[in-house]
Amino acid sequence: MNHFQKIAAQLEANNLDAMLLTGEANRFYASGFHSAGTDGVALVTRKKAYYFTDSRYTEAAARWVQGAELREIGRGRGYAALIREAVAAHQIRRMGFEDAYMTVQDWERYREALPCDLVPATDLLWQLRMVKDDEELEAMVGAQRIAERALTDILEEIRPGVTEKEIAARLQYLMLHYGASDMSFDPIVVSGPNGSLPHGVPSEKTIQQGEFVTMDFGCIYHGYCSDMTRTVAVGFATEEMHRVYQTVLSAQLAGIAAARAGRTGREVDGAARAVIEAAGYGERFGHSFGHGVGVEIHEAPNASPMNDKPLPAGAVISAEPGIYLPGKMGVRIEDVILLTETGCRNITKAPKDLLVL
Ligand code: ZN
Ligand code: ZN
Repeated sequence: MNHFQKIAAQLEANNLDAMLLTGEANRFYASGFHSAGTDGVALVTRKKAYYFTDSRYTEAAARWVQGAELREIGRGRGYAALIREAVAAHQIRRMGFEDAYMTVQDWERYREALPCDLVPATDLLWQLRMVKDDEELEAMVGAQRIAERALTDILEEIRPGVTEKEIAARLQYLMLHYGASDMSFDPIVVSGPNGSLPHGVPSEKTIQQGEFVTMDFGCIYHGYCSDMTRTVAVGFATEEMHRVYQTVLSAQLAGIAAARAGRTGREVDGAARAVIEAAGYGERFGHSFGHGVGVEIHEAPNASPMNDKPLPAGAVISAEPGIYLPGKMGVRIEDVILLTETGCRNITKAPKDLLVL
């Protein structure tokens, strides 16, 4: 899977002759080939794409990179030298670059070495990446299924005395075991009073009877991320725990019901937020309803009060309201949904009724 042609097709409208991709995420999106950090550069001109890398990756890149000329850097012939040759060959005057990813040091180096204008153009990639094609969706569904298998197994292991960290470690093992290539982020596992930290770090705290355990985790499969959160109770759940859980679940369902291409991020967020506000917990839901998911765990578009733009069909966003009561408990429930013209399709299949283990 590669997107060289999709990127090339956008150059003219963006008044660019080429797009330089130096960051890991966009380079992968363009080429379908993953290499670490700054170990590779893709250059997309209007007529032709190039993939530059070093000898450690040449063999693998030759196998994976389709639709681009592969060239190897060498001693005295770094990335800038090879890009300069392409600038001359294609008479490139305006070259887009990833202002949201490139370091200032690299930017200064390229600016000095290249005889063309470097134009900030990260948004071109973000706009393209927002709308998923079938192959991307297939990878994302695959990643989600792996996470769900890990969840099914981990539910058997959650009991009083087990630490948050042990559950986090097991989740990572299980996702790799079921076929993930990596985590999409470090799993969040928080229990009892730690649950009020939306992005808490798993600790040595042991799980107790009558506590919630919130697990937010995801993996990477074929280069694409999954993201899900489930909150379960251990032993028993108090009336307050039931009330908070049901409020979050109702809010999530309201947000999902409102999610449709053409609606703004603010409208979708607002539908969920209204439920939490009506229940008196408005102050306890500090983050936004959802974020885009794809090559990166957080990408455009956001279902947040700040986003006044209509969400596009084909975008995959999370649906993750939460209520956090400091020092007491927290609940978050997260699915990922695919936006369509008429509504949305929930990619997450794991059940959401309150589970008391
Ligand atoms: Zn998450
Ligand atoms: Zn998320």
